[in-house]
Amino acid sequence: MPVPAVSRQIVFPERDVIALDTIAVPAPGPDDVLVRIRRVGICATDLHLLAGHIGNPFPLVPGHEFVGEVAAIGTRAGLDRSLSIGDRIAVEMLLPCRACAWCRSGRYNLCAHDDPSAGLPIGRQLGVNIPRTTGHGLWGGYAEYLMAPQEAIIHRLPDDLSWDAAVLVEPYAVAHRAVARAGIRPGDNVVVVGPGPVGLLTVAAARSAGAARIVVAGTRAARLEPALRFGADAVVNIREAADPIAAVRDALGGAGADAAIETAGVPSAQQDAVRLVRRGGRVVLAGACGAHAELTLHADEDLLTREIDVLPSFLSAGGFEPAIAGLARGEAPYEELVTHTLPLAEAERAFALIASRDHSVIKIALDPTR
Ligand SMILES: [Zn+2]
Ligand SMILES: [Zn+2]
Repeated sequence: MPVPAVSRQIVFPERDVIALDTIAVPAPGPDDVLVRIRRVGICATDLHLLAGHIGNPFPLVPGHEFVGEVAAIGTRAGLDRSLSIGDRIAVEMLLPCRACAWCRSGRYNLCAHDDPSAGLPIGRQLGVNIPRTTGHGLWGGYAEYLMAPQEAIIHRLPDDLSWDAAVLVEPYAVAHRAVARAGIRPGDNVVVVGPGPVGLLTVAAARSAGAARIVVAGTRAARLEPALRFGADAVVNIREAADPIAAVRDALGGAGADAAIETAGVPSAQQDAVRLVRRGGRVVLAGACGAHAELTLHADEDLLTREIDVLPSFLSAGGFEPAIAGLARGEAPYEELVTHTLPLAEAERAFALIASRDHSVIKIALDPTR
């Protein structure tokens, strides 16, 4: 399929503004891979970005949950990556420098190379904090085409994996990182707080890590119900339960949760996670709450006297490999999460649908080929 001269993109020119625009598509540089986007997931992070809660990256082409095909490839990239035109790929949002201490230790989500004044994307995140005014401007997945630079981490997708399942690879990678941070071992009891897409995928990831019993805690009944199909043993509506801590303990068969993983991205859910875990347990905070969100905990009652390990989990580092493997094995009814797939031009409607908190909405994907 020939590469057109221009690509359509959704642009956030400034906070609270969504526009559809076009941009020239250059030939890839020697180390670049031009990606034809087949699906991009809309994430709560994108809503935070639009609202100006995550810095000032404008004008921004959002979209970090994208998958697609190799459309064109630079000469060196073709050799180094052994990729061919048409290959189905996922690209990690992180563009690590691979040289700083964090990158070398494997925690490339904490890459310390971030010098926007250099005009390069190194150390930053596709679709999140690289302004469209940097270089060629093809840095976001809400577009027909994206340019993956030399620093990009590219994964091949199985040929028989549907795009509707493949679009979940990034949130599933976030879930796998959270489960890894929680140190889930076979036999552990786990409570997942927040039954959104990442929460449901965290249930599947915890299940594949060998969790014994998994309970999902949340406040929206329509969101809790699918958790059972993703591997949860029980769900607890913590708004309705008279004693949520007791309800979770009962659902875990009387034992406490060895680990609580929060995926909702609101401080109240983070508090819930700390209070729902057993003494000496581990709490992973995986949801982004937006700028200036404050978390209040009782230093002694919640943390000190219970010796709770609080472990934030940031982005998806190390999560893509197990996520792709899980998707390929079909461990959960993944495609059920993608409740809506809309054309690129309907991004604004997609955001309105999410904001409406319509019960039928779990994950909305955009299909830029439409
Ligand atoms: Zn996301
Ligand atoms: Zn680095």
